[in-house]
Amino acid sequence: MKSIWNKILKVDLTARTCKTEQMPDEVYQKFLGGAGMNAYILWRECPRGTTTFDPANRLTFAPGPMQGLKQSGAAKWTAGAISPSINMNADSAATASFGIEIKEAGYDAIVVHGRSDKPVYVIVDDEKTEIKDAADLWGKNAYEAEDGIQEAEGEKFECVTIGQAGELGVRYANIQSRKKSFVGRCGLGAVMGSKMLKGIAIRGSQSVEVHDPKEVDRLNKEINKRLAELDKLNDEWLQIKRVGTALATELFAPQGNLPIKNYQLADFPSGVKNFHASNYAKQLNAKPWPCQYCTIQCHNNCEVKQGPYAYKGKGPEYESFAMVGFNTMVDDIKAVAYACELANLYSMDTISLGVVIAWAMECYEKGVITKKDTYGLDLSWGNAEAMVEIVRKIGTRADGLGYLLGEGTRIASERLGGGSEDWAVQMKGQEIAAHNWRAQYISALNYCTGVASGPNHERGNSQHIWVGHVRLPEWGIDEVENEERWSWNKTADRNAKFHDYCNVINSACHCKFMEFRGYTLTDLCNTINAATGMGWSLEDLRRCGDRITQLQKLLNIRYGWKKEHDFKYPKRFMEPVQEGPAAGKVPVGLEGAIMDYYKERGWDEEGRPTAAKLKEVGLEDFIE
Ligand code: SF4
Repeated sequence: MKSIWNKILKVDLTARTCKTEQMPDEVYQKFLGGAGMNAYILWRECPRGTTTFDPANRLTFAPGPMQGLKQSGAAKWTAGAISPSINMNADSAATASFGIEIKEAGYDAIVVHGRSDKPVYVIVDDEKTEIKDAADLWGKNAYEAEDGIQEAEGEKFECVTIGQAGELGVRYANIQSRKKSFVGRCGLGAVMGSKMLKGIAIRGSQSVEVHDPKEVDRLNKEINKRLAELDKLNDEWLQIKRVGTALATELFAPQGNLPIKNYQLADFPSGVKNFHASNYAKQLNAKPWPCQYCTIQCHNNCEVKQGPYAYKGKGPEYESFAMVGFNTMVDDIKAVAYACELANLYSMDTISLGVVIAWAMECYEKGVITKKDTYGLDLSWGNAEAMVEIVRKIGTRADGLGYLLGEGTRIASERLGGGSEDWAVQMKGQEIAAHNWRAQYISALNYCTGVASGPNHERGNSQHIWVGHVRLPEWGIDEVENEERWSWNKTADRNAKFHDYCNVINSACHCKFMEFRGYTLTDLCNTINAATGMGWSLEDLRRCGDRITQLQKLLNIRYGWKKEHDFKYPKRFMEPVQEGPAAGKVPVGLEGAIMDYYKERGWDEEGRPTAAKLKEVGLEDFIE
């Protein structure tokens, strides 16, 4: 098989060793790389009883067979481990060039385990590897850590680092790369911190051999042209290249998809106006800041020159400004962008952060917490100053509320009580993302049944059938009626296909934003074949996605998942909003839809993969 090295790097921080290990073709043929590799490593090396902060937990950084192809969207990679938020296997993807650099250094993955007795960072310079002292970097924010490593080692190293939140165990701490891209969900930054690992820096000079370079080149040119042309056909403020994911405000508001006031309201006019892409571009001086090789170019570099929220750097993605802005009712776009960048510096996932703060604001409104708990801050809805300050308290794990909020809404609401569990919008310990289930019931089903990292809008993004008008015609999802948003018709089938789609794309390691502008399953399949020479059909591609989903489910079970967890959805799921396009819509019948999904997946009544299903996808040897 081509486009892989058959080689991974194993870093043992306890023994302070770095060793290479050969990996047979069969592993890649079954699981590709990325998310699939993460699941495979956990399966092989973290038996039942391994916990999040156990040194034995494996933290894997893995590109896939598409890195090194120079295709638009191929600057992707995935990290995975047992997560501190959901206490099960999880993976999360990022862009920038770290995955490409792993590949160019001659590896298909870096797997870290053990725990150092003092802060360290890891250097990988082609074959040369070293574990170095990071005492001077500990306590620094994530960007300072990257600067510090590059100053010491040279700018050509691609880095991942954590900030204070990762060091201090915030359960939704993230991992950053290039000050612009983040392994956001499920708290993998806290796993890194628990290992006393401040960063990894990598530099490579090797090109992996691909099966058919001419065909890769042809595909790249054809795909780039098509994607760019399709993006241009949209109105200015709906062009990804122009404004990135800020286009979502205009697209999502008329659908009732925004999360507002801890998911209680249907509309927030000043927020819709201020977070509109045109205002985003103007107020934040947004300029495209693309990943390597990308024609879509969603990332923005922003600059606020003056005032209390002056900063220069990463512009907030939709998920970030929706959760930290709409969900807290803060409509000051500069304050929200600044708060999101603060979160990036501390290394915190902005989705969970926005839900946690909104939950605290609701606690404050209902008198469950008072100014005595909030360091004197007036934590009312929409108070930008208080919102920014509470981000600082969480990021530094300040005694009291700051520390509690760093535990995430599940633990915080259990500890605080006072009925606050009722407005903790989380499942399995992870906060719900910025796609509102009232606008399309399939979101609720996805949140309940996700196996790759709990409730996650990007590990089964079936909401985009309606929200982003994405289709998978090659797998039978084509014509869809708008009214089907609020029906359970075909949702089991569609949800399963989108879970599998996310798994193949996160394992091949390709950016899902390409799909919004016409990147197809056929493109993905053709590219994988041109790279690897595997000669897969579209059915083989689905089977691979199915196999990875089934393995992730087996891991869920191994680490403590129970059927009841899928049915413990947030109370708010069944609370309607009174106005707007989704007025009165709640996903009644969700329980039945979950059971239908189990059946569709080849799971038994208890939600466990059957032996026949595992055999069908080639996982008979994985039955415990
Ligand atoms: S669409 Fe955005 S995240 Fe995806 S590769 Fe391009 S710039 Fe990076």
